[in-house]
Amino acid sequence: MKIAVIGTGYVGLVTGAGFSDFGHDVTCVDIEPTRIAALQRGEIPFFEPGLPELVARNAKLGRLRFTTSTAEAVAAAQIVFIAVGTPSTAEGAADLSYVIEAARQIGAAISQFTVVITKSTVPVGTADKVKAAVASTTKHPFAVASNPEFLKEGDAVNDFLKPARVIVGADDQKAIELLRSLYHGVLRTNDRIQVMDIRSAELTKYAANAMLATRISFMNELAILCEAVGADIETVRKGIGSDPRIGAKFLFAGAGFGGSCFPKDLRALAHTAREHDVKLGVVEAVERANERQKRVLGERVISHFGGNLEGKRVAIWGLAFKPETDDIRESPALTLIEQLADAKATLAGYDPEAMPNVRERLGDALILASDPYAAATGADALVLVTEWHELRHPDLAKLKSIMRTPALFDGRNVWSGPEARAAGFHYQGIGRRA
Ligand code: NAD
Repeated sequence: MKIAVIGTGYVGLVTGAGFSDFGHDVTCVDIEPTRIAALQRGEIPFFEPGLPELVARNAKLGRLRFTTSTAEAVAAAQIVFIAVGTPSTAEGAADLSYVIEAARQIGAAISQFTVVITKSTVPVGTADKVKAAVASTTKHPFAVASNPEFLKEGDAVNDFLKPARVIVGADDQKAIELLRSLYHGVLRTNDRIQVMDIRSAELTKYAANAMLATRISFMNELAILCEAVGADIETVRKGIGSDPRIGAKFLFAGAGFGGSCFPKDLRALAHTAREHDVKLGVVEAVERANERQKRVLGERVISHFGGNLEGKRVAIWGLAFKPETDDIRESPALTLIEQLADAKATLAGYDPEAMPNVRERLGDALILASDPYAAATGADALVLVTEWHELRHPDLAKLKSIMRTPALFDGRNVWSGPEARAAGFHYQGIGRRA
């Protein structure tokens, strides 16, 4: 099948490369000429494990191409995916301007019956707007459908190639058949495709993210209660996670969630509800709890030093919003950096992949070190924000010898408190008893 994918970000590029790997003929489009030029040279514009190999293999076989020309890509395609960004507006709504602009450009380019599918995360009712935008620039027949994406950065290729389920929102039979056949390679049996009405599909994506975020904020609030009552959140987590009705995933207390999806999608969902005079009190509380949680680490460091960080150096390990990505959008590390800089600390950071993005965003607001121990050298405190594998088992003896004062703040509960204390450190996790 001939496919065009509009937008070559985390979702668009993985989608395009993924479908090409199943033998489809894919052209990926982006409005950023430098991004397309880089992709044409075989360079991947962001860090995503497994993606460079997937792109290289399919580009070499001639099944995956890159262009800045929507017209060229869409004219040849039977299926067009919209995978452009939907950032937050100042009011917390999803900004649909990129989606609608892409839809107009698609309309102007289609040359045969085409199925236009929104993969971007978009509020309920967006398909109607996409339909109107496409119709405003074409006389050709077309259908719209919704196919929200559930991949997670850091494991996106795996998620795309082996999805837990594929949600298809469509009311046009031809569109449903095309999508079933398109995903046949991914699912082999079709029983993990769930076909539903478009509005339910659009809402399912937000509901999934809101549910996952709710679990995290719930555990973060419980962690603070654990500290107040002398219980241990890790023990409580295991205790509830072994209940099959609850399950063990997404129950880790920590420094709060960030990323390009959860925060903006919670805001957009609450905004949609307000527009319809519905109050989503739980969703609003989840976001508020997360905003509080993102400040917990910084408050602890500041209070450990009596409220004044002047002359103190703080090292931060992990800057990406989670491990295995270079994405720093709404990362808890950014909140921490702002808090500590306001308190006049000197900051040194290390992240295996995200430092170029941090440099681009924050300039010289913090020293970016070439390895984690260089960041910790001379530090009065070391804070773990993102639990990359390489940061999970620090050499405590080495840290003790290079840090100015031995204080560890573990924002992901991955270090051993007893071991750190035995080695002479002040150690603080989130909601831990030991
Ligand atoms: P991104 O910001 O990484 O990439 C979007 C790309 O679209 C950019 O490269 C931009 O230049 C391009 N673009 C914008 N307008 C265009 C146009 N008219 N024509 C061609 N290209 C255009 O975004 P992302 O993280 O891939 O997210 C895309 C959508 O998918 C969002 O709605 C997001 O919420 C959703 N989503 C993201 C993830 C994720 O993990 N990142 C997961 C699931 C869903």
